[in-house]
Amino acid sequence: MRKKKINKPFLYTLIALAIMFVFVGGFYISRSFIETTVWSNESTEDNPAQGRISMDITDGNSGSEEIISEKNPDQESNSEEAFADGTGEEGDNPVGTSENQEGNATGSAGQTDNTEGQSSSGHEDWPDPVPDKDYSAIEHPVVMLDPGHGGIDNGCVSGDVLEKDVNYDITLKLKNLLVNRGYEVVLTRTEDVKVFLEERVQASFDCNADIFVSIHQNLYDGAEAESVNGIESYYNSYNSPKGSKRLANLIHSKVVANTEARDRGVQEVNDLVVVIKTTCPSILIETGFLSNTAERNRLLSEDYQEKIASGIADAIDEFFR
Ligand SMILES: [Zn+2]
Repeated sequence: MRKKKINKPFLYTLIALAIMFVFVGGFYISRSFIETTVWSNESTEDNPAQGRISMDITDGNSGSEEIISEKNPDQESNSEEAFADGTGEEGDNPVGTSENQEGNATGSAGQTDNTEGQSSSGHEDWPDPVPDKDYSAIEHPVVMLDPGHGGIDNGCVSGDVLEKDVNYDITLKLKNLLVNRGYEVVLTRTEDVKVFLEERVQASFDCNADIFVSIHQNLYDGAEAESVNGIESYYNSYNSPKGSKRLANLIHSKVVANTEARDRGVQEVNDLVVVIKTTCPSILIETGFLSNTAERNRLLSEDYQEKIASGIADAIDEFFR
């Protein structure tokens, strides 16, 4: 009896010590876990290559959807629809847009009512917008060209034609024209590699781009695919408002005139990362539909690609004039 009375407090002390041990140990284990997590995040920022690999593994869709719904809480449904086509990246929301436009049976600039309304709201958490410059006063303009998609991201696909390749071919022709005309030209990719949308935007900051031109192809995934064709252009006027709109209208109209393609209009949008997050005047042009046999064949020809490229180059000349 006595011995037991003496031993009981001893046992309690042991149990208390064990509990303390578990708590203190748990605290240090969780601390080291947090530190490891932070460290690896930092290391991916320091090393973009590492970041790319991990993003490829964890997020085949490049994460642009998250960025967009974060930036535009008011138009989630619009964004989701635009990105529901599974092309793997931002860019061209081919199905959503096309179906939408066909459904509205207008298919051109007249229908901006909807997007105008949306663009006036949802900017509360955006940084202060960058105002327009005097673009004609820029002595040596830096033009950033953005061939859409690349690497594992093919963009839209029609048979064995991959959007990323058409985008790149047109971009190279445009680059040559612009370099010959004295522009400094920077490309967001110079080979067939995947470049994330945020990296493309960052590249425009890194080279102090004066304008940003993103080149894409469209796709219509429906029974009327052979009757849907033409050129669509997108911009956003949050940053460089007058320049963005003017650049989009100039490029769009010159390319339509040069190619004699169907004019599907210029639209202001709030859901394309490369036009909303770049601060210089920027445009995303869909130069045609790969789903339309006749237009696809034109888009693959050197002549037609030259017409598109020279239309864009002439518009850029006029923009800086
Ligand atoms: Zn695209």
